[in-house]
Amino acid sequence: MLSIHALNKTYGNGVHALRDVTLNIPTGLFGLLGPNGAGKSSLMRTIATLQEPDSGSIRFGQLDVLADKEALRRQLGYLPQDFGVYPRVSAEDLLNHFAVLKGLTRKGERRDAVEALLKQTNLWDVRRQKLGGFSGGMRQRFGIAQALLGDPRLVIVDEPTAGLDPEERNRFLNLLAEIGEQVVVILSTHIVEDVTDLCPRMAMIVKGQVLLSGEPQQAIDALRNRVWRKRVSKSALSQYQMTMQVLSNKLVGGQPEIHVYSERQPEEGFISVEPDLEDVYFLKLRTHQNVLPQPSTVPVGVAEAQPA
Ligand code: ADP
Repeated sequence: MLSIHALNKTYGNGVHALRDVTLNIPTGLFGLLGPNGAGKSSLMRTIATLQEPDSGSIRFGQLDVLADKEALRRQLGYLPQDFGVYPRVSAEDLLNHFAVLKGLTRKGERRDAVEALLKQTNLWDVRRQKLGGFSGGMRQRFGIAQALLGDPRLVIVDEPTAGLDPEERNRFLNLLAEIGEQVVVILSTHIVEDVTDLCPRMAMIVKGQVLLSGEPQQAIDALRNRVWRKRVSKSALSQYQMTMQVLSNKLVGGQPEIHVYSERQPEEGFISVEPDLEDVYFLKLRTHQNVLPQPSTVPVGVAEAQPA
């Protein structure tokens, strides 16, 4: 179990990136969901001991992480958002090199570990190819292979699915879910489906604050019978947005289809829909925006929907 308590971080430029972040993260795949700029990377880097918080504590099992960073690093696998590779080196050679850096100095043991990871990440057949020729998905799988060297107990992957095509994304997420059967895996993402599909537990973070944490299905169930759908004309859209709690609008066949949060049918023509995590996400964003003094920016990349 990873326990984060009351973490705060304000950068030199005055941005309060983490506000009293408290989370308990058990073994398994944990989704950290939030729009760009929410503070996900700041939290990941802090847990990975790459930066110091201003206050708060982090425990991993019995370990006081901030007091003994080296001990955490020995158990950590980390795939940063901007993971770069050497384009002229083969996957096998670079992984072997990383393995030496990780302390796998015995040759036979190292060879076995490298082989097992290349197979696990489905890169065995292309192990002799240069990384420069890899697709985005292959590169991310290589990133996971290097993160898994040395059998980490805690794996952190920062926005790994951005830019992957749907098939690669699925393959990558399945790989993470498999790993999560034994260790704590934290996946940060701004893509709601990444969390819906595979994470047994999640947290949502906006402007440095945890707005929700727990099981995705619980959050979804709480919205049952309160989400309504209607196709509306483009010209009427802004009227709906002013008078109702419009969670999202998507163009379906060129016409806006809106999801509205309401305790009862908002007006004729609205159909009750099974809520999903996207509805939860937009409701939280919307509610949070309303209590903030300034409207926050629209999250990008969440399907084609826009919060109202
Ligand atoms: P996310 O990963 O969710 O996109 P970040 O943690 O990268 O969010 O950023 C949270 C906020 O902190 C943003 O407003 C960002 O501009 C700011 N920020 C991140 N890193 C730094 C830094 N090193 N110095 C100053 N501000 C930063």
